[in-house]
Amino acid sequence: METTTTVNIRRTPDLDLNELRALNERYETAHPCEIITWAQQNFGHNLALTTSFSDTLLIDLALKVDPDLEVIFLDTGYHFSQTLQTLRQAQKRYRINLRVIRPQPPAADLWAAGTDQCCNQRKVEPLNQALADKTAWLSGLRRTDSPQRAHTPIIEQDRRGLIKINPLAAWPEKDLTEYWEQNNILTNPLTAEGYSSIGCWPCTERPAENEDLRSGRWTSSNKTECGIHL
Ligand code: SF4
Repeated sequence: METTTTVNIRRTPDLDLNELRALNERYETAHPCEIITWAQQNFGHNLALTTSFSDTLLIDLALKVDPDLEVIFLDTGYHFSQTLQTLRQAQKRYRINLRVIRPQPPAADLWAAGTDQCCNQRKVEPLNQALADKTAWLSGLRRTDSPQRAHTPIIEQDRRGLIKINPLAAWPEKDLTEYWEQNNILTNPLTAEGYSSIGCWPCTERPAENEDLRSGRWTSSNKTECGIHL
């Protein structure tokens, strides 16, 4: 089903293609904290982090750089209880400047009728509203998540005109695992059951079955992304 997304194009400190290319070359092999530091120094309070509480890796890294960083969680109304449990554990572990965003006005129950429209009302539009007063945001995208994410840049300009920073995109698995273990990163309990990508329960239908870590999502359609990263 075709959907319409209202996107207010914002004017940010423009980075032209040459500057973006240079930044991506500079930070391709950088530690995520270096990348987050660049973002914090350039965008300050106009920077936010988005998380789905599959784990607290990005939160752990980012709060070491900026303990006051705003953390956005999109409460679609369809999260697994284990996801909300991970959120509560994270609130006990960290002092999170958490902003929970829910669809406004309340969204219709649409996932069974059309996932694009449902994602649009419960994720895409709420995130647009949450980022309306921001100039940049941090996401936990990794190139190893799926074939569609294999070329994720470290720094890009999104369709809203915001600067989107993906500090984990190119972090080597070995370094990530080492950091994870040393810092006892909180993990959604569903991960132990093979769910390597966790979203809303109606559309996280099964554990991943191959190297595509998101292959358990939207298994009955060709959909691979909810739309917030497109
Ligand atoms: S992932 Fe599924 S339930 Fe969640 S917003 Fe999208 S369509 Fe709706």
